[in-house]
This record gives sequence, C-alpha cells and structure tokens, in this order.
Amino acid sequence: MAGAVADATGELVARYLQELAQIGAHGETGVWRTAYSPEWRTAQDLVARWYTEAGLVAREDAVGNVWGRLPGSDGGPAIASGSHIDSQTPGGRFDGALGVVAGLVALRTLTEQYGQPRRTLEAVSLCEEEASRFHAANFWGSRAITGAIAPGETDSVRDFDGVPIADAMRSVGLDPGQIEDARRDDLDTWIELHIEQGPVLEEAGIPVGVVDAITGIRHYVVTLTGRSDHAGARPMPGRLDAMAGAAEIVSAVIGVAQELGPPAVTTVGKVQVEPNLPAAVPERVVFTVDSRHPDADVLAEQYGRQEQLMGEIAGRRGLGVSWTTPLDLPPCPCDPEIVGVLARAATDEGVAFRRMHSGAGHDTQNMARIARVAMLFVPSKDGRSHTPAEFTEIGDAVTGIRVLTAALHRLAYEP
Ligand SMILES: [Zn+2]
Repeated sequence: MAGAVADATGELVARYLQELAQIGAHGETGVWRTAYSPEWRTAQDLVARWYTEAGLVAREDAVGNVWGRLPGSDGGPAIASGSHIDSQTPGGRFDGALGVVAGLVALRTLTEQYGQPRRTLEAVSLCEEEASRFHAANFWGSRAITGAIAPGETDSVRDFDGVPIADAMRSVGLDPGQIEDARRDDLDTWIELHIEQGPVLEEAGIPVGVVDAITGIRHYVVTLTGRSDHAGARPMPGRLDAMAGAAEIVSAVIGVAQELGPPAVTTVGKVQVEPNLPAAVPERVVFTVDSRHPDADVLAEQYGRQEQLMGEIAGRRGLGVSWTTPLDLPPCPCDPEIVGVLARAATDEGVAFRRMHSGAGHDTQNMARIARVAMLFVPSKDGRSHTPAEFTEIGDAVTGIRVLTAALHRLAYEP
C-alpha cells in the first residue's frame, strides 16, 4: 500500500475509533457501552450508517448484530469479518471496536479499489461479547448467528439488576421472539481482527499476530466448608478453617500452571468469605479458578491435577469441598487454510508477523461451528486491556487492517 493511501487509511481508522469512543465515553480514554444500553443503540446505528456510506448493504439482524454486505458476482456463501461493539465497565477504546472498524475499512478499501468481489463479503458489528452486563450471555451475538441460544435463555439470562435480556432487547427495538432469524448457514469464512490484550507482540517488536488457536477455558466455582469458631478461644489444632484451606488450594492450583509452563495460566480472581469477620474463623470460602491452555491434551492434564489437589487438600484439612464449572470452553484450533492465507497476506505486504495463540476467548470460537476461522492480533501497549489504559498505535492498527484487506482480497477477488 502506497504511503499516501496508508496515511488516508490511518486518518479514517482514527476518526472511526474516535467517534465510537465518544459513545459511552468514560473519563479521558475509557468506554462504558454495555449490550442493549442506549449507548449501544447509538453505536450500532452509527456503524450501520458507516456501512451504508461505504457502499455496503446494511441490516440489523434479530439479535442486534449489524451487518454490511458487499454481494459477490458469483453468489454462494459469504466471507465475513468483524468484532463486538460492547465494552467492559469500563473498558478501553480498542477491544472489539478496532475489529468492527477493521472489517468496515477493509471492505470500504476493497470496493473502492477493486469494485464488486467475486465472492460475497460481509462486515459485522456483533452485539455482545464481554458479558459485562449479562453475566451468562456467553457470546450472545455469535451464539445467535450459530443457532446456539437455547429456548428460555431470553428470560434466564439477566443483568446484574435482574432485568431479563428479553426486556433489554425490547428496550432497543428488538423482538426476542425472533432470535432464531439471526441464524446463518451461509458463512464460509470468518476472520476477526482484535487487539492482543497481552504483551507478546509489543515485547517482540512484531506488528501482527496470526492466531492459530484460541485457548480453552474452564471456570471453577469452588466452595470450601469448615466450621466457624472464635478466633481467640479456639486453639489452632482442631480448627476447620476454610480460609486456611482456600489459601493452600489457591497456591496449589496456580502452582500447577507454573509447573506446566507457558502457555498454561491459572487465576483466582474472586473470593467470598463467610462470615467475613476479623475475629471469626471462616466457615465458608467460595472462590473462582480460571484455568486455560490452548492444547486440549495439556488442558485435560492441567484440570485433572488441579481437581486432584483441591480434593486432596480439603480432605487432609477435614473441609468439605465441591465445585461447579459454569464456563467450560474447549480450545478452538483455527482453520489451517485460513491461517495460511493470513500468513501469506502478511508476507506479501512485507509485514513481520508471529503465529500465536489467543489467551482470551473470542466470538471467533463460536463462529468456528459454522465457518472456517482465524484471527489477526495487533499489539496492545504494555499488554493492557479491559481498562481505559488500553491503547494501540494507529500505525499498528493500519498494518493489521492492511493484512486483513489483502487476505480478504485473496479470498473474495482472486479466482
Ligand atoms: Zn474483545
């Protein structure tokens, strides 16, 4: 891409990102834009307008995903690219938004430079990914597209104030009874550009990551039960201290990920203590364990060792232990052919890249049920994400979009 074109693309990308960041702006650089909020409505309407301005056929589906279509002369299944419009509370300006802008800019560039594609291209702004308002939404937008929303979920999935997602949908003009209509069976390929959300690319000084797998994730909610006693009157021997057991288990499960080495990761991020008093031995501790690895075999070993340790430590201390796994996503390998197309596109554009896995979950792993998928990453400053401090250089964003555009050109224009 010539310098002047790259400059123009940079200005366009910066303008789109800036305008989106104003919708639900939070402080200087943050964004607070949850699914089906008034800000969400404004943002999706703006994206639809941008699609139309770019010469795409814009439409909103039954669940609120906004699509921009560039029909191909050959017809047939479509090649789609996009990401999500919702944010963390608060999040930054790039998570999701950059992928929405990337799909839009890529299709706009292709239609301006090459006219009608042979195969149909679509850009999409997905309605919900972060679960920042609806804890159990679990990729609501891409689950609607893949037909994975169960009947009854429109009532059972509720926000933190207890509002059913069906009511939230009605508040922005959507009919929850029509969700089934959002299902697609005519997508062949899905490519999502996203910020890395970690430090790998920046530390390596490499502008683009070609993602060949998305990590598997399991969330455990572990309950340890002991006995509450007076913190002074009950001697140490004979205590059934749920907190002491939790502390040992937390160290042990994190230790498993450390022993297995990268890319294994394990995090205990949430703890509830009862009775939660300074002078009482805790009776009950409930905590989460987030355990991830992109390789299915290693992941099975990781889970197995962690579960064995939880049982062993609780048993030795005379504590009751039980757990549930409210989130359990298997690793998602990307399609080798699409990964290859992205790698060749980067090489053709003279862009250095590294193959890597995604340590975060993405809509892409749902889209893999119905399409060939892969992802592109661009660097995150200091590896920060899910915070207003999230930042990606416009130059890096443009480089990633250039590779995306070249890959879509290969797929949709070349015979
Ligand atoms: Zn995201």
